[in-house]
Amino acid sequence: MTNKNFNPFEMAQKQFDNVAELLNLDEGTRELLRNPLREFQFLIPVKMDDGSVKVFRGFRVQHNDARGPAKGGIRFHPQETIDTVRALSMWMTWKCAVVDIPLGGGKGGVICDPHNLSASEQEQISRGWVRQMAKNVGPLNDVPAPDVMTNAQHMIWMLDEYEAIHGAKYPGFITGKPVGLGGSLGRTEATGFGVIFTLREAMKAKGVNPADTVASVQGFGNVAQYAIRKYTELGGKVISVSSWDQEDQTSYMFKRESGIDIDELLGITDKFGGIDKEAAKNLGYEVLPGDEWIKQDVDVLIPAALENQIREDNINSISDKVKFIVEGANGPTTPEADEVIKEKGIFVVPDFLANAGGVTCSYFEQVQSNMNFFWTKEEVLTKLDEKMTAAFKAVYELSEKKKIYMRDAAYVISVSRVADACKKRGWV
Ligand code: GLU
Repeated sequence: MTNKNFNPFEMAQKQFDNVAELLNLDEGTRELLRNPLREFQFLIPVKMDDGSVKVFRGFRVQHNDARGPAKGGIRFHPQETIDTVRALSMWMTWKCAVVDIPLGGGKGGVICDPHNLSASEQEQISRGWVRQMAKNVGPLNDVPAPDVMTNAQHMIWMLDEYEAIHGAKYPGFITGKPVGLGGSLGRTEATGFGVIFTLREAMKAKGVNPADTVASVQGFGNVAQYAIRKYTELGGKVISVSSWDQEDQTSYMFKRESGIDIDELLGITDKFGGIDKEAAKNLGYEVLPGDEWIKQDVDVLIPAALENQIREDNINSISDKVKFIVEGANGPTTPEADEVIKEKGIFVVPDFLANAGGVTCSYFEQVQSNMNFFWTKEEVLTKLDEKMTAAFKAVYELSEKKKIYMRDAAYVISVSRVADACKKRGWV
């Protein structure tokens, strides 16, 4: 997910330092917030199907819990690093603060590639992760969730292990659970839908009709799939999506000028979001190199894959037509590329605002789990829309009032809220 020279944690710290300066934060608060409060690294031995034992490395980082229990997903990825998890945990702190939910920021991961692991091997990794972390996570201190290449199945294995260790039912321990087993309706859709709720508001603010716009999307996992669905519902047209090809170890872009058809593409997509190239060609899609996604002549770019995708070396290849960048992924844009985007005057909905729908719905899931009473899908999605819209409006109003970049405005709101919580608790 990251190339060798890119360090997401350095990037997250750079973004934070910039806002700390804007806010004139005192030294102690800066020192506290630019680093995680707690970190865990451990080994998970797994009996593989072939009889051998393989040892996997796991992580959990709790960046800050001044506003509530740490919250954030667990990612299974072959290129996971401690610095990636640190960065993602910091971004979770800002994400929960910008939508004003009473949670802090955490993130976890395991270095592994689920493409090459059986269900039983993945179950052992999930249970092994919980065995290592059982004393330091829970509904009152740190609540995990799905992230890249983990889903409801991994969450329910983890919950089962946690409940076995603690000897009681703790449905609020983890979110993204299966519906009917403590999960919330709408959680699967929440991140992608939330991305488009913020895009819809951005377009409203700029007087643009979504039905007159065309988009290019990077990624075809859970976030991208539901973002495409919602954007299409609003009348927008997606002409290209890119997705990772496990066999070729590279990504491809699938393009059709008349617009992609989400259901048709899902019919030829594996569970990791990989699209079958030959089947796509038969359906009239052009198959091009994955990095073409950014060069398309579109109004909207939606990076919805991984970090470090909009960089100094490709930012100048974007079309003059692009008016909106909505970041479905965490950390897709480097600070260097950000400077160019600012100069070009493109409207950005920054990652920790745009993709906050997932954790917002996770918060709703926790609330429902804790009271053991579940809402209808419509109720969940209405509440989600309200929360995302309110958060967008607060950030947009600040950016207009202070004449600052959207990312800076979002950071100002989040960092002030977290700094204030630390101060009131007497930490700084
Ligand atoms: N992994 C998701 C994120 O990056 C969701 C986190 C959660 O629901 O706690 O926002």
